[in-house]
Amino acid sequence: MTATQLTSENERTVVDAVPKQLLIGGSWRDAEGGRTLDVEDPSTGTPLASVADASPADAMRALDAAVAAQASWAAHPPRERGEILRRAFEQIVARSDELALLMTLEMGKPLSESKAEVTYAAEFFRWFSEEAVRIEGRFAVAPNGAGRMLVTKQPVGPCLLITPWNFPMAMGTRKIGPAVAAGCTMVVKPASQTPLSMLALARILEDSGLPDGVLNLITTSSSGKAMGPLIADRRARKLSFTGSTEVGRKLMEQGSQQLLRLSMELGGNAPFLVFDDADLDAAVEGAVLAKMRNIGEACTAANRFHVAGPVAGEFSERLAEKLGAMKVGRGTEDGVQVGPLIDATQRGKVADLVTDAIGRGAKAVVGGQAREGAGYFYNPTVLADVPGDAKLLKEEIFGPVAPVASFDDEAAAIAAANDTEYGLVAYVFTRDIKRALRVSEALETGMVGLNQGIVSNAAAPFGGIKHSGFGREGGREGINEYLETKYIAINL
Ligand code: NAD
Repeated sequence: MTATQLTSENERTVVDAVPKQLLIGGSWRDAEGGRTLDVEDPSTGTPLASVADASPADAMRALDAAVAAQASWAAHPPRERGEILRRAFEQIVARSDELALLMTLEMGKPLSESKAEVTYAAEFFRWFSEEAVRIEGRFAVAPNGAGRMLVTKQPVGPCLLITPWNFPMAMGTRKIGPAVAAGCTMVVKPASQTPLSMLALARILEDSGLPDGVLNLITTSSSGKAMGPLIADRRARKLSFTGSTEVGRKLMEQGSQQLLRLSMELGGNAPFLVFDDADLDAAVEGAVLAKMRNIGEACTAANRFHVAGPVAGEFSERLAEKLGAMKVGRGTEDGVQVGPLIDATQRGKVADLVTDAIGRGAKAVVGGQAREGAGYFYNPTVLADVPGDAKLLKEEIFGPVAPVASFDDEAAAIAAANDTEYGLVAYVFTRDIKRALRVSEALETGMVGLNQGIVSNAAAPFGGIKHSGFGREGGREGINEYLETKYIAINL
């Protein structure tokens, strides 16, 4: 690491404090051959730190450790499993400032947003600390009266958990929390762009008393090569993946060989519907949140705005005013609301989508260009009169760009909203209660934000349908992804 890009002593301290090795069977060790991979600060494009770069053999050792720890961990008292999570929750909250700074340095989002993610991430540990002791089965008299039926839940077994870069900590706790609560061991693989938050989290779990081998962490620059053999290994019993639909599809194919149990939290293309009876102030506020949270790099980000014809012009103007006033810069600077995108590839993709839309007749009300200078910044953008064939209405933008199109009536709004292969979340703004329920039920998504621009909540089941995947994380449903149901037929 060169020192120049870290602007304060504090930044250096939080980066230096993170372990940079692989965690396998309770010991921190270097990758085979001492290989490392660089982590970049996206606000400057310069290296921030180097972490171990696991080989396929390292990854297999991590699975070996998870397999070895499974039986004793499954037998660990649920109350103690919960208490480990509770202690980890408390540590995360107590250290939220330093964890937020670390996240901002590797991922780019403004400090206030990193702080919000750290809180959200911790909530999964609190929630699942409470769920660990509520894993219930049932006992029943068989219908013929002769036998008895005992239905019980058991941990699935060793899990493979793969997470993306956009929420470096919460996408981890959302899987690790229920896995720990259910009594599963695991191999965790964070995205190579943002491994530091997960490394810090692993240390916290260790300090909270998680036994050796329950959580094994590998960081690697060659995800496919390292994880492929684990997915094919029949000792692994579950894969929970959060990432793009494209990679999710590949992993499903690989997992099908051994009928691996899967949870897939994939891409989104969220429609944001504003009806002419909506509270326009609330709709604009909600739109800013749904679009700009995480610099637009969220699977739940509003990807396209469908607004009733009579209010579309006013909505675009007001949204443009808000987005145009947002401060763009390094996430550590005071008052910054929009950080850099994760890398040059992502920024190039956003720029191409905007160029395509403008080429087809859309108008940039505000923004429309990348920011000059170091880092991967893109200016907040509102595009009006976006034609139906623009690529950004079909593809996940993953950037601070809001395309606005208008609709004539409710049926057209629903048809436009559902005209996508994705089905993660939709947002609906209306003051008519009947319309609100009618439209919510007609939307082909796993979640709906009704008059609000954010749905994420550790106590709620998060997940999608269609090409956004399957399985639910959080809520009462979340732990089921890590449990098997066993039925014992009892002859009396
Ligand atoms: P990605 O699919 O490129 O990578 C996700 C993870 O998979 C990373 O850890 C990556 O290293 C790993 N990976 C990539 N190829 C692999 C392979 N062949 N074998 C094993 N692992 C592999 O996604 P990303 O760019 O990191 O994240 C952005 C995507 O994640 C977006 O599409 C976003 O919508 C999605 N996402 C979904 C949710 C959700 O809950 N539905 C939440 C956050 C992000």
